[in-house]
Amino acid sequence: MTEKTYNNMIRRENREAIAILFIDVAQRSMNVFAPGMIEAIAEAATDAATDDAVTGIVITSGKDNGFMAGADLNMVEAWADPARTAASLLAEVSKLGDTFRSIETCGKPVVAAVNGLALGGGLELALGCHYRVVTQGAKYGLPEVGLGLLPGAGGTQRVMRLVGLQAALPILMQGKPMSGEKAVEIGLAHEAVPQEQVLDTALRALAEGRVTAQAAWDDKGFQIPGGNAYAPQNAVALTAASTLSHVATKGNTTAALAILRCLHDGSMLPFDQAQKMEQKYFVQLLRSPAALNIVRTMFITKQAADRLKRRPAAPAKSAMRRIGVLGTGIMGAGIAEVTAAAGIDVVMVDRSEDIAKASRARIAAGLDKQIARGRMSAVKRDKILSHLHVGADVTAFKGCEMVIEAILENTEVKHQAIREVEAVLEEGAIFATNTSALPIDELAKASARPQNFIGLHYFSPVPKMALVEVISGSATSEACLARAMDYLAQTRKTPVIVNDGYGFFTTRCVDAYLREGMHLLMDGCDPAVIEKAGEALGMPVGPLCLGDEVGNDTVHHISHFFETRESGEIGADRARSHLVLDQLDQDGRAGRKAGQGIYQYGADGSKRIDRDYLAQFAKADAPITLDAARERLLYAQLVEAARCWDDGVIEDAAEADLAACLGWAFPAYLGGPMAAIEQIGSAEFAARCADLARSAGARFTLPAAFANARGDVRYYGRAA
Ligand code: NAD
Repeated sequence: MTEKTYNNMIRRENREAIAILFIDVAQRSMNVFAPGMIEAIAEAATDAATDDAVTGIVITSGKDNGFMAGADLNMVEAWADPARTAASLLAEVSKLGDTFRSIETCGKPVVAAVNGLALGGGLELALGCHYRVVTQGAKYGLPEVGLGLLPGAGGTQRVMRLVGLQAALPILMQGKPMSGEKAVEIGLAHEAVPQEQVLDTALRALAEGRVTAQAAWDDKGFQIPGGNAYAPQNAVALTAASTLSHVATKGNTTAALAILRCLHDGSMLPFDQAQKMEQKYFVQLLRSPAALNIVRTMFITKQAADRLKRRPAAPAKSAMRRIGVLGTGIMGAGIAEVTAAAGIDVVMVDRSEDIAKASRARIAAGLDKQIARGRMSAVKRDKILSHLHVGADVTAFKGCEMVIEAILENTEVKHQAIREVEAVLEEGAIFATNTSALPIDELAKASARPQNFIGLHYFSPVPKMALVEVISGSATSEACLARAMDYLAQTRKTPVIVNDGYGFFTTRCVDAYLREGMHLLMDGCDPAVIEKAGEALGMPVGPLCLGDEVGNDTVHHISHFFETRESGEIGADRARSHLVLDQLDQDGRAGRKAGQGIYQYGADGSKRIDRDYLAQFAKADAPITLDAARERLLYAQLVEAARCWDDGVIEDAAEADLAACLGWAFPAYLGGPMAAIEQIGSAEFAARCADLARSAGARFTLPAAFANARGDVRYYGRAA
């Protein structure tokens, strides 16, 4: 029977002398630390601890989908507001850890009945209890490092004290979740049982007197398993982890380093002091721009896009049952696979039935590989394959609600295909093109029903890349946009709406990054320095390597297409990179697929920069440092993004930033190009661009909005 409820978030029931606190945050499908939650827990725990009739406490979830997912990210975003003072932030975030500590020291045995998933703050709450019963197979983890943060409610200290410093390293530094069984095996939890037995098991542990009302570290003689940071094996492990984290982050984010400091220093301090120190590091990270950027772009904006925030309100949500894919090469096959995986029938058509059949067979082989790696069941593979049908020609598209075209990137070829396919489709069916650069309005000229014509720009490899740039032409109807977005949600893709224009948003910006590598080469920068500069910025690969991977022939094609749209001094300056691209094209150096490009590729999979070949491109030999190259590689992308804004291609800063981070792996710690410009400060940014335009070339010239705005350009909140 419910005794009392707290903030509509916790309800207390008594079972004889045991107080059970059910966490059940109203209006949330999953429990999270929403505002008011910590006060609710503190009050509920204090009430139970001071109630003479209560001999033990169980904390569990009132929801059947898990214990607790962690902090509400909107709350984290509010914490990370740069306007807040460090002192007020520390006072607020300390409440979480201090409350868990008061539960741990309340004098009565407290058991966490962790009935399902517990992540971040949810797991930290469980760690603050004296005994943990977890669910077999459910996920447990501290993923804060991935947000540019650390577990700041005692997590670093309790994990280390429970499992030892070395074993704590991967848990905290990688942030990957583990199963309930694994949590028991390493000592993070006491028992793992099926979900429906969790509460009874917790009650039994109390009834049988197996729970001591004190944490092991509150015992006078407590020693961390394996010793403190000075124990030789721990010192070695900390040094190795520090090096590895620096290699992985290039020093661009400091969360991993802060975790190492918490472990190192915390291993030599009593718990309460160690926790205070952890809270200070947590606040420091919250006040670094990286955490705000990552949380805002990769979580808050992504979740909003996944929920189709920008979908037109009408018509009502719909689901597709049968779609067609024209062109079954790299992209078409990927689109077919993710669509079939969502349970939608797909008709695959190519220039011949044999080509489409071979493509289907390649998808099957890929699924087999996943089975061999234990990532997919045979049942799931068979289900996906049962949705993949091969058609002899476009007449097989009859009855499809949408056809996605992924054929040759050529306007005439696409025009012809549009006419042929539309002739087969019913009146209301959608024609979507996966073009990476051709304007939708130009392609729609061949469409008899331009209101049903839309761009869906996927990224390669399609099954792995979440983003799809959605481009409406001037005639595309809201209904077409809404239905296309519903389909993307069905196939678990993240849609970002951009406006029509050559290269849309992502292709233009990634092209700018790639070609800045070539400009650097021509300016005499050492190619290895160019590549390292890209990596130091936080891009997954350097710009020269990226060209080789994408295919220098494709880059050549796109950049010449862009040239037809660009004029004046800026266009002429950008086009200088054709010196390199034309030569690579002439010499058959398309990149990895050709066995040679900027790099030479060995049969054994090795590769090395072909310095002898590249020497011909250096037109100057002014030494360019890694820092200068890094700045140019960043600014080339930022300037292009600012131009896309000026051209009206993008109009939602948060979504543009999301498209950048998901689409071409723009570093998430910067939040995206729009966030980066705001953080540099638009006046400072404009001044550096002016310097670069003078020293490196006119392509760094900013659009008119900057000149007119007198150094106050904001993308978030107010239009530039
Ligand atoms: P691909 O060469 O791998 O595949 C193209 C397929 O289309 C081939 O199987 C070819 O036989 C078929 N085809 C060509 N003309 C056809 C026609 N008239 N009718 C039927 N089939 C035809 O090319 P891809 O990399 O998959 O690219 C396809 C489209 O997707 C292009 O417009 C490209 O710009 C775009 N795109 C590519 C990428 C990428 O990374 N590869 C990313 C985004 C968008």
